[in-house]
Amino acid sequence: MSFPSQKSLKIGIIGFGPFAQFLSKTMIKQGHSITATSRSDYTDLCTHLGISYFRDMNAFLESNNDVILLCTSILSLSQVIKSVPFHCLKQPTLFVDVLSVKEYPRDLMLQVLPHDSDVLCTHPMFGPESGKDGWKELTFMYDKVRIRNEVTCSSFLQIFATEGCKMMEMTCEEHDKLAARSQFLTHTVGRVLSEMEIEPTPIDTKTFQKLVEVKESTSRDSFDLFSGLFIHNRFAKEQLRNIELALETIKQQLFKRMNEELD
Ligand code: NAP
Repeated sequence: MSFPSQKSLKIGIIGFGPFAQFLSKTMIKQGHSITATSRSDYTDLCTHLGISYFRDMNAFLESNNDVILLCTSILSLSQVIKSVPFHCLKQPTLFVDVLSVKEYPRDLMLQVLPHDSDVLCTHPMFGPESGKDGWKELTFMYDKVRIRNEVTCSSFLQIFATEGCKMMEMTCEEHDKLAARSQFLTHTVGRVLSEMEIEPTPIDTKTFQKLVEVKESTSRDSFDLFSGLFIHNRFAKEQLRNIELALETIKQQLFKRMNEELD
């Protein structure tokens, strides 16, 4: 899919953790200019990457970004966004978030951002591990929640389309329903396997090796991220109940069969 217009963007990132660092490398490669701010001091890393790093949020906002990309943890978004001095913005700006839940940041942004700001909710369905060899065929979900400046919005989406992402437009609600049944389920199973301390054995089947991979890849993400998937996706609680119910049903089937066999 191609988006009509592309221009070089000034992108300001709030929250320069692992995912923001990963995204910014491709944005820089494409010729966009990046500024960043975060709770921790990333001055040295940013200097190395060619990014202007601001410790002061006012100066960051005054640096005239076309796009402000929210890359904080799900759990800290509310506190972070409510502390932003929006009066320092010099122009109407496109705010984009990349949080792994979608209704929550959409509602917060609509509630807190200045009315002349545009709002694009996105979820790149990949991370530093799955996207380390490029983004081709990886899914990029987005919802154009409040867009008046189509040129800036298209230019931003084009970053992902250019890399070959599968561009998937859907509502935040639809995303959260599907993500509870896929991403949250994967993370929960991974955390259960981790809690059980499963490890490779000398007689692993291929399928068991895949389970070990699920455990390892999900435990690389922070616990903040995992709890955010649960706390701020209203469909996740139902999934957790479904997992418990399914385990109980399978247990009952096994014991019933055992009793029949041994009678
Ligand atoms: P994360 O643990 O979810 O978030 C780390 C970021 O949150 C850092 O920038 C950190 O700032 C900031 N942060 C955490 N607590 C904070 C607080 N109390 N106050 C201010 N800032 C705080 O890890 P991540 O992998 O980088 O993910 C960032 C976002 O991208 C998340 O919303 C996640 O859902 C989304 N996402 C991640 C992936 C992935 O594969 N990792 C994929 C798609 C979307 P400091 O570093 O300055 O401490």
